Amino acid sequence: MITCDDCNGMCCRKLAVHIDTPKTKDDFEDIKWYLYHEGISVYIDNEDDWLVMFPSKCRHLAKDGRCAIYDNRPPVCREAEVSECERNIKEIKHLFSEPEDLNNYLKKRKRS
Ligand code: SF4
Ligand code: SF4
Repeated sequence: MITCDDCNGMCCRKLAVHIDTPKTKDDFEDIKWYLYHEGISVYIDNEDDWLVMFPSKCRHLAKDGRCAIYDNRPPVCREAEVSECERNIKEIKHLFSEPEDLNNYLKKRKRS
């Protein structure tokens, strides 16, 4: 297992927020619009939840890759399990980095 000492704070360099599972054509158009924005990606995780991901380093990530407010870090960071983090499990089932990825996913879904 990779430990935080072997990592450089990968999980502190972006923000992923749950979004409603898209159902309608307009829902998918909204997601496509997210993907028009450079750097934004959307993914489906291994629990079939949809998330939008923003690359953005936390202000409290120190140069040595450690949390500068470790004792006062927020609940979301306290609750994160290293054994279940992105360095240790494959948490992304489908990654959409650009609108074309979503179009291809929808085409495949239509065929199946
Ligand atoms: S929890 Fe995982 S991704 Fe985050 S710093 Fe530790 S090893 Fe890296
Ligand atoms: S508060 Fe600390 S543990 Fe949480 S994202 Fe920022 S640097 Fe990482």
